[in-house]
Amino acid sequence: MTAKRKSQHDELVLLPLGGTGEIGMNCYCYGVGSPRHRQWLMVDLGVKFGTEKEPGIDVILPDVGFITSNRNDLAGLVITHGHEDHIGAIPWLWPQLECDVYCTAFAAELLKLKLKEHGLEEQVPIHVVEAGKPFAVGAFTLELVPVTHSIPESHALWIRTASGNVLHSGDWKIDRTPQLGPPFNEQRFIEIGREGVDAFVCDSTNVLREGVSPSEKDVAATLADIIANAQGRVAVTTFASHVERILSAVRAARAADREVVLAGRAMRNTIEAARLCGMLADAGAFLEEDAFGYLPRNKIMLLCTGSQGEPRAAMARVAEDNHPNVALEEGDLVIFSARTIPGNEKEVGAVINNLAKLSIEVVTADDALVHSSGHPRQGELKLMYEWLKPKAVIPMHGEPRHLLAHAKFAQSCGITETLILEDGKIARLAPHPIENVDEAYAATLHVDGKLVVAGTDGPAKERRKLSFVGIIVVGLAVDDRHQLADDPQLILDGVPKGLQEELEEAVETAFESMPKSRRKEDEVIAETIRSAVRRAAETAWGKKPVVKVLVTRV
Ligand SMILES: [Zn+2]
Ligand SMILES: [Zn+2]
Repeated sequence: MTAKRKSQHDELVLLPLGGTGEIGMNCYCYGVGSPRHRQWLMVDLGVKFGTEKEPGIDVILPDVGFITSNRNDLAGLVITHGHEDHIGAIPWLWPQLECDVYCTAFAAELLKLKLKEHGLEEQVPIHVVEAGKPFAVGAFTLELVPVTHSIPESHALWIRTASGNVLHSGDWKIDRTPQLGPPFNEQRFIEIGREGVDAFVCDSTNVLREGVSPSEKDVAATLADIIANAQGRVAVTTFASHVERILSAVRAARAADREVVLAGRAMRNTIEAARLCGMLADAGAFLEEDAFGYLPRNKIMLLCTGSQGEPRAAMARVAEDNHPNVALEEGDLVIFSARTIPGNEKEVGAVINNLAKLSIEVVTADDALVHSSGHPRQGELKLMYEWLKPKAVIPMHGEPRHLLAHAKFAQSCGITETLILEDGKIARLAPHPIENVDEAYAATLHVDGKLVVAGTDGPAKERRKLSFVGIIVVGLAVDDRHQLADDPQLILDGVPKGLQEELEEAVETAFESMPKSRRKEDEVIAETIRSAVRRAAETAWGKKPVVKVLVTRV
């Protein structure tokens, strides 16, 4: 008997460390083996972006500490596609994991750019694999199955193990007429369905929408139509990674006899990566920003970053009329060829208002079909269930409301087994029935400046509090007779300055009313003064600020 023989207790499990409960921060760990000893495969390792709830935090990562503490049991990391929410955390977390990384050529190029910024490009072993060709990683036999999405080379991952098989959908939609890359091909999914799918772990982003996603062909036609009819300058902003959309816009410009000027580093980077992978061969050359100054208005199209209203990106600066090389004026047109990601509405609104102040016409996805999402609506999900005939559906890539709706939708399509997971829950996928069997540590990490710090209980929590109530610092000099040696010093930051005198008096009163015996301990003084200041502030202001008291003995 060989040691590797499958034991009676072997099972296939899924542990999401990010992505079930949020759109972003995708990190799914599949495990095989007995509950006492599992080998893990990580699928994707992405970021989500900080919001107003995380002041000063641009990027949020999944805490992979559970896997790090079992690092020898991690067989590898497979990347489904090159979006930030799938690869963005690798440069931050790879040093903890030190594992081999598997992906196709385009994701590899994007990842290399990121690793270079972190000085890791020589260290991370990236294995470029071909879609459609099976490869083995530890106990897992894998195949990246091409799908259509909003970035080139997107894949589902077909995972076969001795304990069961799972299809991990990645991000996908069904586009029969894409403008870049092969059309969606259901054939492989039908074959996979015949092999037997124990669980289909699937993208939930657009489950609340009925019907099917419009094709990129229709988006391209709309862009061509709008750009052909434009009189003045045209600027198109979209996601930097959306190479297909960039290509559609460029083709529209060429058809209207316009040169293409590029603005924005992120877009330049993806275009270079795409060219290295043999894409954009028919796009022609792009001009540098300085060409904007000398080309006639009707011979130019600007392609730029900033579709999410990012204040430092090209579009925001053009709208504020302070871009060094690019200026728009009345009669020009800006096309937002993107969806506004929830949370970015204010920023996008601000850019559009700035453009309105310059009397520049704006077309968004609310006005015309200038954007189509890369995620499946109900009609597409239903087709995929029919092809795969999965025993179970597990929703992922969604907020709780998406996961719940997805589970209900799958059931309404006749899928009897569904399970709603949360980050940190371990579910058995095979043998059936699927169910939650265990838990693992799961949390978020914040990228704070150059540091990676705790998420939930990290500095952002304190900063958020300060942003509501401000801070008061009280300095007390106490002499050896336990009397105040000087007037108390109060610094009010983010607190109405009119409270200064009143709070100073509150400090003195509180100090004087302390019996001498209690003034011997600095900590007792600090706590007494702290509560007195908070009480006084609440009475006068209706808010309790953060109060810090420093006691010095003189
Ligand atoms: Zn995604
Ligand atoms: Zn994606």
